[in-house]
Amino acid sequence: MLETLPKSASLVTLGGESTRLHPLFGLDLTALTQLFSEMGERPYRAKQLAEAMYRQRVAHLDQITTLPQALRDRLTVAGWELGRPQIAESFKSVDGTERYLIQTGAQTVETVWMPEGDDGAEFSEEDGSDRPSAGAWKRATICVSSQIGCAVNCQFCLTAKLGLLRNLTPGEIAGQVVAVLERHNVDLNKNRVNLVFMGMGEPFLNYDNFMAAVRLLMDHVGIAAPRMTVSTSGIVPGILRFAEEKVRPKLAISLNAPNDEVRESIMPVNRKWNIEAVMDAVRTIPFRNREKVTFEYVMLGGVTDQPEHAAQVIRLVRKANIPAMVNLIAWNPGPGIAYNSPSAASVAAFQSQLLAAGIQTYVRRPRGRDIYAACGQLKRTTESAA
Ligand code: SAH
Ligand code: SF4
Repeated sequence: MLETLPKSASLVTLGGESTRLHPLFGLDLTALTQLFSEMGERPYRAKQLAEAMYRQRVAHLDQITTLPQALRDRLTVAGWELGRPQIAESFKSVDGTERYLIQTGAQTVETVWMPEGDDGAEFSEEDGSDRPSAGAWKRATICVSSQIGCAVNCQFCLTAKLGLLRNLTPGEIAGQVVAVLERHNVDLNKNRVNLVFMGMGEPFLNYDNFMAAVRLLMDHVGIAAPRMTVSTSGIVPGILRFAEEKVRPKLAISLNAPNDEVRESIMPVNRKWNIEAVMDAVRTIPFRNREKVTFEYVMLGGVTDQPEHAAQVIRLVRKANIPAMVNLIAWNPGPGIAYNSPSAASVAAFQSQLLAAGIQTYVRRPRGRDIYAACGQLKRTTESAA
């Protein structure tokens, strides 16, 4: 693990030679303890470093004053840097949502902050800074990316247009969360923060790094697994592995279509794992008490939003026989994608039809559409509006 050289490493000149620095951020306590023991240091130093990086959100080695200067110098000379991803650009929506481009090596990745206030006045900006004061919001959700781009190629999704550029490392996935917590001065003891792995990429096609990030976030950053939800387009081997995890986030499945024929036309992945194969895999998960799977359903005007589609979804959900709820997402438009958003009336009718069938059904409120932050709009856009 210590030998791997993530692409986020930067170049420095040490003793006249250009050397890449390894990021410490992303190493868990076991790896840090091993590193320090190889350097002849005591294990409590590893704890101090983990505490500073993950709990206090210190972004530079030279700011970790609990570690002696000599030790910090030795780490640098040995080729280490703190190396946590940093926010490079931010865009703020009229609804309080913020979208960040976070630097991961030469490329950026997207992360979204969605605060929920009681009265809509989510931030107090009286101090004139762009850092909202903690406590101005009651709870918040951070939407995290797992890959740069995506290979799954869903026809309605802007991220798909990028193709897959690369997998993110555990430190780059967890680092998005820590950078955003730092930006908002979040006190995890006081503020409720949920994580959704619904940003760029397919988490289950980067399974090991994704789960390593989840463990960092649970064990070191301090966010409990039931506060996290991972969404997959239906990667069956990933779902089967997920079912074996002792501690894991909640699961959301991008169903998105009422039958295999439509699903195949909008999600090519359905040719490899059809609806039944996905449902069979989900059924292997030992659900926690009261836990439910979320079926996400992107409503494409005229394509998936009709009453007969709702009737088919009802049949699918009943046949699946899985504790489930449905999350309807009105399609968010993007340049170069030729679908239509559904009308508000068809979304409402669809929801009523499912509710009448006894299926718990929500409509996902679009967040940050004006800054390209809403579902399926993450494409590293540097403008804030269309
Ligand atoms: N790759 C994973 C997670 C990220 S996408 C997955 O597909 O599940 C998160 C959700 O946004 C998915 O349910 C996806 O179907 C939905 N989505 C993608 N593009 C969208 C768009 N343009 N409008 C609304 N939802 C979209
Ligand atoms: Fe990838 Fe999810 Fe977009 Fe499909 S919807 S292309 S799986 S990010």
